[in-house]
Amino acid sequence: LNRRLAEFGTTIFAEMSALALRTGSINLGQGFPDTDGPEEIREAAVRALRDGRGNQYPPGPGVPELRAAITAHQLRRYGLTFDPDTEVLVTAGATEAIAAALLGLLEPGDEVVALEPYYDSYAACVAMAGGRRVPVTLRPHEGRFRLDLDELRAAVTDRTRLLLINTPHNPTGTVLTRAELTAIAELAVERDLLVVTDEVYEHLVFDDAEHLPLATFPGMRDRTVTIGSAGKTFSFTGWKVGWVTGTAELVTAVRSAKQFLTYVSSGPFQYAVAEALALPDTYFEEFRAGMRAKRDLLATGLTEAGFEVFRSAGTYFITTDIRPLRESDGFAFCRSLPERAGVVAIPNAVFYDHREAGAPFVRFAFCKRTEVLTDAAERLRKAFA
Ligand code: PMP
Ligand code: GLN
Repeated sequence: LNRRLAEFGTTIFAEMSALALRTGSINLGQGFPDTDGPEEIREAAVRALRDGRGNQYPPGPGVPELRAAITAHQLRRYGLTFDPDTEVLVTAGATEAIAAALLGLLEPGDEVVALEPYYDSYAACVAMAGGRRVPVTLRPHEGRFRLDLDELRAAVTDRTRLLLINTPHNPTGTVLTRAELTAIAELAVERDLLVVTDEVYEHLVFDDAEHLPLATFPGMRDRTVTIGSAGKTFSFTGWKVGWVTGTAELVTAVRSAKQFLTYVSSGPFQYAVAEALALPDTYFEEFRAGMRAKRDLLATGLTEAGFEVFRSAGTYFITTDIRPLRESDGFAFCRSLPERAGVVAIPNAVFYDHREAGAPFVRFAFCKRTEVLTDAAERLRKAFA
């Protein structure tokens, strides 16, 4: 293993899902739903397979039907206009979009400012692209992880090439506010930075939180690469259909890298996701309401078990502080949790460069069936309350 990758070891998601299997625990670690997405969309994939749509290499940028559906979705939801022929690229999940964006846009030695804790592939992909990551730590304040705008400004140097943003934010459940996003946008314009923004949880925002795409802020459309994914919005994480939108120049850079990573993304699922993106608003509303009820169920269980629970305004995840349980090391806690409670969770420290800043935080996924969450909450109460 080369020096660029040696520090990353095995992804925490593989390690923790294996631990759940081995111990027969409830897996609230890796974020994937335990029920599949809409039947009619599964049928659409089967139809595409049977009709021979996408069984051979689809076009490099993605099938036209999906590119049209992505642009229609961006217009319908956010009033953003993109040319489906030049400003959209279909990728093998958001994971490939992140990799291809960084590989296509960074020069060796470029600095990337990213919000810490960050999704684990960011650090590895910055490293593979020869960049240097500069974390800005989100810190808890009145029950929510927030961005310190002075720290963000201070992180930008003459070597900064891009800001890597994620909202709604994994693992904290924070949804960046209009004020935070305005500050990010102003900084990007002032310092002439590119922004790569991972918005895969765009449809999973709760209560009064609102997802505001960075590309809608003044001066941002032409300097922003926006990443989306069908995995989260339609509960098909195994399909690995993601996408990128941005200017033709930026999308071309991402595509230049993508063509040598996977060349194209798998065909039949693209046709099905095109149909999914065109589902009526009621699908998205019901999906969000269902997930919000799951969040509430798990948050109540965790609170009753004695965790400090941060407000999850979006994503699949709740971040907790384990110090009220007289614990302080999230790694040790998560390793012992299967034995103590029969539950698996993720230590947030893996998402930090400043490991000590993340040490007492532990992430639980609530994208699971009600009975599974009820069982997990009961186990946690029994073990800790
Ligand atoms: N970004 C974030 C913030 C995520 O949580 C995930 C889900 N694992 C991804 C990207 C990757 O998405 P996909 O499964 O579409 O590759
Ligand atoms: N995005 C999911 C999570 O954060 C799973 C990602 C993965 O398995 N790579 O849990």
